[in-house]
This record gives sequence, C-alpha cells and structure tokens, in this order.
Amino acid sequence: MKKAGVILLTVTLLLSTVFTGCGSQQSSSGNTQSKPTIGVAIYKFDDTFMTGVRNNISKAAADSATVDIVDSQNSQPTQNDKVDLFITKKYNALAINPVDRTTAGVLIEKAQKANIPVVFFNREPLADDMKKWDKVYYVGAKAEQSGSLQGQIVVDYWKSHPEADKNKDGKMQYVMLKGEPGHQDAELRTKYSIQAVQDAGIQVEKLAEDTGMWDRVKGQEKMAAFLASLGDKIEVVFANNDDMALGAIEALKAAGYFKDGKYMPVVGVDATAPGVAALKDGTMLGTVLNDAKNQGIATFKVAYVLSQGQTPSKENTGYEITDGKYIWVPYVKITKDNIADAQQ
Ligand code: BGC
Ligand code: CA
Repeated sequence: MKKAGVILLTVTLLLSTVFTGCGSQQSSSGNTQSKPTIGVAIYKFDDTFMTGVRNNISKAAADSATVDIVDSQNSQPTQNDKVDLFITKKYNALAINPVDRTTAGVLIEKAQKANIPVVFFNREPLADDMKKWDKVYYVGAKAEQSGSLQGQIVVDYWKSHPEADKNKDGKMQYVMLKGEPGHQDAELRTKYSIQAVQDAGIQVEKLAEDTGMWDRVKGQEKMAAFLASLGDKIEVVFANNDDMALGAIEALKAAGYFKDGKYMPVVGVDATAPGVAALKDGTMLGTVLNDAKNQGIATFKVAYVLSQGQTPSKENTGYEITDGKYIWVPYVKITKDNIADAQQ
C-alpha cells in the first residue's frame, strides 16, 4: 500500500512537471519560437457541415501550429469545461463554435481573464457580447444571404415550370424544415428564403413548419409527418440545410416521388458532398454553398495571428475584417448548372 502510494505520488509529480513545463513554454507568447497551440471547440462532431469546417481548420494549421480540436457533444456545460481546460493549459488562442451562442459572454469573460484571444465561428454571439473585449472575433457567413439565394432558386424554378403550381391557385404551398431554433442561420434562412419568393411577386402559403435540428433523420421524420397530413398539397420543400433536405428526399422517395414523373422541388443550404450528389442525381433542386473551406481557413488564420500577439488584418489573414472583428465568407447559389462552384 505504502509503496504504491509513493509510486503514484512520484508519477503525479513527474506528470505535472511535464505538464506545466510544456504549458509555460507555449504561453511565452509574443513572437514565439515554439509552435503556438490553439484550442478548438466544436459544438458537436456529429454534424456534416461542421465536420467540413473542422477538417479545414486542421488542414490550414499544417505545420505552423498545433490545434487541439475537441467535441462539445452539443452541451454548453461540456464546452465550458473543455474551454476551462484549454485555459489551464495556457493555450495561445481559442477558436470556439458555441453550443448556445447566447451564452458566449461567459466564455469571453473567461478568455479575457486569462488574456487568451478568442475567435468564434459558425454560431454568432450576440453583438453586445462581441463588444466585451477587443480580442474577440467572429468568422461566419451572412445568414440572410443564404436565405435569399435559396429563395431565388425556387423563384427561377417556379417561373419556368407552371406545372409546379399543382392546384393552380397561383400560390406556392410550401413546407419549411427549420434548423435549430435560435441559431441565426435557422431563423434568418427561414425568413429570407420566403421573403425572396414574395419579393419576386409570388404569393405563398405556409402549410407546415417544424424543426429538424439540422439533422438528416429528423428531417426525414418531419417530412414523413408532413406528407401524411398534407400529401399532394405540398408544392415546394424548403430546408435550412442539406442534411434535412436529404432526409426530406428520403421521405419523398418512400412516398413515391422522383419516379414515374412525380417530382417535388427540394432546396437545402451547405453544398455538402451528399448534397451535391443529390443535385447531380436530380433529387435536390438546389442548394447554397456554405463555404466550409474558407470558414475553416479564416478561423485558423485569425486565431493564429492572434496567438502571435498581432492584430488580424486583411494583410496577415487574407480576409477582410469588418467592424474590427467580423470575417464574412460569401455564400454561392448552386444548382445543377454550376456544380463545379461547389467543389471544395
Ligand atoms: C449549417 C448547418 C449546420 C449548422 C451548425 C449551419 O451553418 O448550414 O448544416 O448544422 O451550421 O451550427
Ligand atoms: Ca398552388
């Protein structure tokens, strides 16, 4: 017993020496001779689009920095613990994809106390929180734009396909598969996609709207429920992302669509690989490129520059910085005609 205790103590001491030794070396910041370490927390690994962003962050880091990428498992308390650990390890910068964007203020305070700069991405903190500290940045895309572009794809289709108005009432009867409520992309895509249709002079009637939480299986379940209650009344399916659009397509296939001349226009957002495959096979009408590659690179670059004690600029990151803290990566409309633009 006694001997085991001594060994355990020795091992613990040894480990903690290694640990702090390594930590202090990394934090000897300014123009570090050693590679900086950047702590990256993703809201959850099991998300198709975020997996793309995550892979691009790793790729961008290459040999210039160590990136410690962790899964917050869709739990804000878990993410807070992970960030605490990054801070304890004295990492040189943080890149955070918050679980609950409205509580980012707590993370900002933690980071500021430790003087570790932080870049948020994909889930936009509230403007008031962003103002709390000057070493806080956000990399994302303008959600309104993705909604408008998605709406325009549907407008083009509707105008060139009179048969799309199945009941010939001059109105577009649609269903909406919404992403996670409260997420800026879910709220604004839902709003601006329909706005674009109305702006084109087309009347709309919402038959149903429900959240599929960005998830393919949930999208399929919700679409199956819409079909069960509304059947052929549905003329267009809007989905806030490709995963839910792909789920909807599965449900539509099960209900006999996409064969024997039975068609349903379905639109998504992201242009993920499976999304693009569905464009090619003709089941998905269109999507909007949510540029995972540039969002990943920009997130890394801004975090890296901050880890060097410098202020991010167009010159040192390659990306325009708006209002001193925002990097906006543009969306691109994608249909069968310009699939090449979606290749990342
Ligand atoms: C993407 C979704 C993704 C979500 C995660 C959105 O920008 O379009 O596919 O699930 O971000 O926060
Ligand atoms: Ca109609």
